[in-house]
Amino acid sequence: MPLFRSPRGTRDLLPPERTAFMRLERIAARLAAQYGFRPIETPLFEQTGVFERGVGEVTDVVEKELFRLAPRSDEGETWALRPEPTAGLVRAYIQHGMQTWPQPVRLTTTGPMFRYDRPQAGRYRQFWQFDVEVFGDPGPAVDAELIELAVRFHTEAGLEAPDVYLNSIGDDACRPAYVEALAAFYLERIDRLPRLERERLERNPLRLLDSKDPSMVELNAEAPTITGRLCDACAGHFAAVRQHLDAVGVRYSVDPRLVRGLDYYTRTAWELFPAGARGTQSALGGGGRYDRLVERLGGRATPGIGFGIGLDRVLLALEAQGAPPESEPVPLAVVVGADPAGTRERLRIATELRAAGLTVRADLAQRKLGRQLEGAVRDGARFAVIVGDDLADGLVQLRDLGAASQKPVPLADLPALLRRKSGAAQ
Ligand code: AMP
Repeated sequence: MPLFRSPRGTRDLLPPERTAFMRLERIAARLAAQYGFRPIETPLFEQTGVFERGVGEVTDVVEKELFRLAPRSDEGETWALRPEPTAGLVRAYIQHGMQTWPQPVRLTTTGPMFRYDRPQAGRYRQFWQFDVEVFGDPGPAVDAELIELAVRFHTEAGLEAPDVYLNSIGDDACRPAYVEALAAFYLERIDRLPRLERERLERNPLRLLDSKDPSMVELNAEAPTITGRLCDACAGHFAAVRQHLDAVGVRYSVDPRLVRGLDYYTRTAWELFPAGARGTQSALGGGGRYDRLVERLGGRATPGIGFGIGLDRVLLALEAQGAPPESEPVPLAVVVGADPAGTRERLRIATELRAAGLTVRADLAQRKLGRQLEGAVRDGARFAVIVGDDLADGLVQLRDLGAASQKPVPLADLPALLRRKSGAAQ
């Protein structure tokens, strides 16, 4: 047993997994740039109030799952690790006066999020999200654009197009009456509610619809829906979002009970699940509109919309689908030598080849040539550059490890020769 282990609910991304993550990060960055999102990075922790106000106090994420940092100083502030990126991005939008930038402002970030949740398959205490946000565009077209982007991310990653579940959760004009109807429904069935849900009923009845408690599933299936209770403006907006989704060929199902776990959503809300496999722990990503959030965090009223895709879940879905593991980069050549101690020459030659843009490793362990060559083969290198006595004449031996043939090559010609060969391999 090792003395220390990674904290419960976290895991180390070992090279094969980190490589697979990097591939997803590259796809995310490429698509985000293609769709006109600008990269941004905010701290992994914020003043606790950013989340309490931004995410909402009566939410799982803040009530139960917030990683609060123990204060060490008398700075009078408390901090928490970010459970999701939106609240921090809104804080940054306000702090840096992005209201004065040309609107809409389109931002993207990808990184770790933290939730102090009970760990289980697909639910970690540190997980990664690809996130995009748009400020200053009330939609409805951008709502559809984001959903299409989210779907595209999954298909480019190699998954079947995920199932999209869509809803409108109304706004300040129509939601209060719906929440009242919902509260009345639950109140009539209060004896069927678990303790936590009873407490929540007083403070935030909408939350109950999103409960992860298995005993709520049946009850929620009977709960009143917001459909038919949307005000004209919200109903018109929702219809237009759907028309735009049709225009870009995104298929979706309307789920009139979808509310999402965070407080700040208005109107459009959606979640993505692996094709044909909707479950409580299997959401690949979700998003929604938050037209009141900027105000709520102290800024000028600005509409907003965004999504977060869980990269860990995307990788799990790829694995479940039997996708081959991502291959790690392989050196084109390994510089080895007849003299185990000749590390200076091997390092110098590898350095020159790398300066010429080639992927090359030098064998720097002082071991016999045979062992060095074995290492090169194990690495999957195509060539070994063998440094021997003929270096005095400016020559090295270039061995083709696949063909087991070798020939002397002037050191001066080596970069160009290897570049040609690496080009030929592509
Ligand atoms: P949410 O904002 O809770 O809807 O989260 C957005 C996405 O992040 C989810 O659809 C999941 O893919 C992912 N996610 C959320 N919480 C976790 C977690 N604890 N572990 C792994 N992935 C998560």
